[in-house]
Amino acid sequence: MNKLSPKPIINGQTIATNEERFRALVTATADIVYSMSADWRVMRQLDGRGFLLDTHEPIANWITKYVHPDDYEKVKTTIREAIEAKKIFELEHRVLRADGTPGWTLSRAVPILDSNGKIVEWFGAASDITQRKSAEEALREAKEQSEQQKRLYETITSSTPDLIYVFDQDYRFTYANGALLSMWGKSWDDAIGKGLLDNGYEPWHAEMHHREIDQVKTTKQPIRGEVSFPHATLGRRIYDYIFTPVINEYGEVEAVAGTTRDITDIRNAEIAISESEARFRTMADSTDVMISVGNESGSIIYFNEAWARVTGRTTTQLLKDGWFDLIHAEDKEAVIKNFSTSLLEKKPWQWEFRIPDSQNKYRWLLSRGAPRFRSDGSFAGYISSTVDITEIKENEQRKNAFISMVSHELKTPLTSAISYIQVSQKKALTYDDTLTSGMLERAAKQLGKMTSMINGFLNLSRLESGKIYIDRQRFDISLLMREAEEESLASISSHHLVFEPATVSWVNADREKISQVINNLISNAVKYSPAGSTIRLSCTTANDMMQVSVADDGMGISQEDLPRLFERYYRAKGNATRHIAGFGIGLYLCCEIIKGHGGEIWAESEPGKGSKFSFTIPIVR
Ligand code: ADP
Repeated sequence: MNKLSPKPIINGQTIATNEERFRALVTATADIVYSMSADWRVMRQLDGRGFLLDTHEPIANWITKYVHPDDYEKVKTTIREAIEAKKIFELEHRVLRADGTPGWTLSRAVPILDSNGKIVEWFGAASDITQRKSAEEALREAKEQSEQQKRLYETITSSTPDLIYVFDQDYRFTYANGALLSMWGKSWDDAIGKGLLDNGYEPWHAEMHHREIDQVKTTKQPIRGEVSFPHATLGRRIYDYIFTPVINEYGEVEAVAGTTRDITDIRNAEIAISESEARFRTMADSTDVMISVGNESGSIIYFNEAWARVTGRTTTQLLKDGWFDLIHAEDKEAVIKNFSTSLLEKKPWQWEFRIPDSQNKYRWLLSRGAPRFRSDGSFAGYISSTVDITEIKENEQRKNAFISMVSHELKTPLTSAISYIQVSQKKALTYDDTLTSGMLERAAKQLGKMTSMINGFLNLSRLESGKIYIDRQRFDISLLMREAEEESLASISSHHLVFEPATVSWVNADREKISQVINNLISNAVKYSPAGSTIRLSCTTANDMMQVSVADDGMGISQEDLPRLFERYYRAKGNATRHIAGFGIGLYLCCEIIKGHGGEIWAESEPGKGSKFSFTIPIVR
């Protein structure tokens, strides 16, 4: 410190030196006290009070010693302004404390002027405001954080269609999200701070929520409810709501927060589902058709009343024990096998089987299963409908027996009529009576047609009663084709038959029945194509199967009829076939014979473009 002696004398009085004055100031105040040169380049003295390091000798590097680097500029600017204005220097800035850590001070310095108004030096005092500053900082941070949280929650609550709100202790709304305000048709200022009644709730509704808020306050537990009331624009809606206690640090309920969801669509869908379920059950229970619903693993989850009536088991029993044990021993294996394969492939199924009724009499049932699929395409199980076909079966058996009997009875006189005709024809020829012989020949042809029809019926009734047997033998099918060629060339003059060269292929099959199939396809081609047209036959092999095809240039078959031609008694509808005699059993018999050989039979055709019928059977080496 520069010595300021000798002491100045003013008006005869000795005035205290600057240093003495500084000392006095230091002693009188709790603050940090300092003095600076006129231009602030030199710090003359600083009493740091333990907060800052003391300076006893003048120093020039006081800025780096005391001021935090981040505040250098701020301090220098304020000094410049104070010097220029010769006004108090006053600034809150960061300092480097005695222990080297940063702190805060509020620093004030007053310029001492000489008689010319020139600054002689500065006296300053600074207080430690570190604590206040860090409290302020913490507060600012907390505020910022809470603002941020508020923004976050605002974003969440404003983007949800759910209603979100908070009640204070007096049932007044202290918060309502955008969805709720727009439901009320009110602004924030109009709605917040108001109670339920003020916000348009009907008295019963407001009272109900008051009671619930009281309950949440008392129990400190959330509650859930459902309520229905009119929406401003959407009409009557159903709402599901939850009131939750907001508990403060003392464990007291300081508010009640609520969320409400519009569940009208869900409820309506539930109602629609339960109505449709009730409709289905009423329908299912009022029919004689036995209906059951299965799940994806094949277990049955629903049986209608008809099942209970037919089996004599209650639906609960059926659900527990099933019904497969009731199936007739002869049918059981086939049903179980078919069911397992259908389930694996998720394909529709159809079976006939017998089960005993409540009087222990076997009934024939026809069961059909349709696979169900969920909206995502996954398999959900089967819905099956089963009908009692015992009477149909019995009628059919009676009809078959009748047809078989009639056919048999007709065959005997027919055979003798044919032989009489043959004898008469020979006789007519010996008398050179060509006219009679010609007529007798036509009569024989007609009788031949009749015989083959009767044979068809006989075969059908044999097939139906399970009396058709496949009598297998090993033979070369190309030879059979040659025989068919010779036979048809001799008997068919109306059409041009072309037999393509057949490859030698050995099969293990019923020669007579395969021949019957080929003849049937040829006679159909003749029947359903115009006289003079060509019929082509081929016999080829591929993939261990031999394939016979018969193609004609006839009327063809519609897409609607194609898949049903092989059904029993099925005949294509339409004017073209109306006048062609037939019973619709030929292709059915062919199909049964080919299936019995492990082969396939099918037709390809378009109306007006001819038809091609083909069948395959396995070849043997
Ligand atoms: P049908 O005794 O009626 O000929 P089928 O079982 O042999 O009985 O044939 C069933 C139906 O298939 C026939 O009624 C006919 O409509 C159709 N159909 C069979 N073959 C042919 C063919 N080659 N061209 C056109 N339609 C045919």
